[in-house]
Amino acid sequence: MSKIKVTIWNEFRHERHNEKVKGIYPEGIHMAIAGHLAGNESFEIKTAVLDEPEHGLTEETLNNTDVLIWWGHLAHGEVQDEIVERVRARVLDGMGLIVLHSGHASKIFQKLMGTNTGILKWRDDGEKERIWVIEPGHPIANGLGEYIEIPKEEMYGERFEIPAPDELVFISWFEGGEVFRSGCCYKRGKGNIFYFRPGHEEFPVYHQPEILHVISNAILWAAPVQGAKSSYGRVAPLEAVHS
Ligand code: ZN
Repeated sequence: MSKIKVTIWNEFRHERHNEKVKGIYPEGIHMAIAGHLAGNESFEIKTAVLDEPEHGLTEETLNNTDVLIWWGHLAHGEVQDEIVERVRARVLDGMGLIVLHSGHASKIFQKLMGTNTGILKWRDDGEKERIWVIEPGHPIANGLGEYIEIPKEEMYGERFEIPAPDELVFISWFEGGEVFRSGCCYKRGKGNIFYFRPGHEEFPVYHQPEILHVISNAILWAAPVQGAKSSYGRVAPLEAVHS
């Protein structure tokens, strides 16, 4: 079986300018996730960051990506509209997209969701998050227990301004009392999209095995299938039509 080609995209700003974040992710969130997933023989992993030419998302790279993972926060506005459109077209054509944490406010997520807000409640006091698996039969929940606990996380609370997910796999509870839809599946065109909430840069969330397990499951779920090429418009009949 051929490997799933995964590109992990990161804006890579906090890790270069904030000592605390640099201490957790010295080479960046993208390299941390890439390193942890490298042992999985089903994946062929590449990374790309905002400051590369074309944000590292050239036509060639995207055409050779089965699943794109997206982490951004400070610099959503710096992502060029032309590149956003290029990513959107690839998703509609079947590329999987996994949007992590603050990627809820990225141009690409908003464009694919059809909202321009993605707004929510938040508080970065470092509180416990308990992610409840509410669809244990879903492929993204494969191998998980009833819940995952993250000892310290930023809180995201409802209401989260998104269209109702096609499938909701996780709901988070936070120590301070809020809840949040933290594992949301969507289909846009031929592409599978998964929004996964955890991953505030000031906590070592992407070093936690269960979180990486979910990301791995999501890659397998989001990977494209080799379906027929669709055709559109006026076509000749396959059989003679007697009118
Ligand atoms: Zn955050």
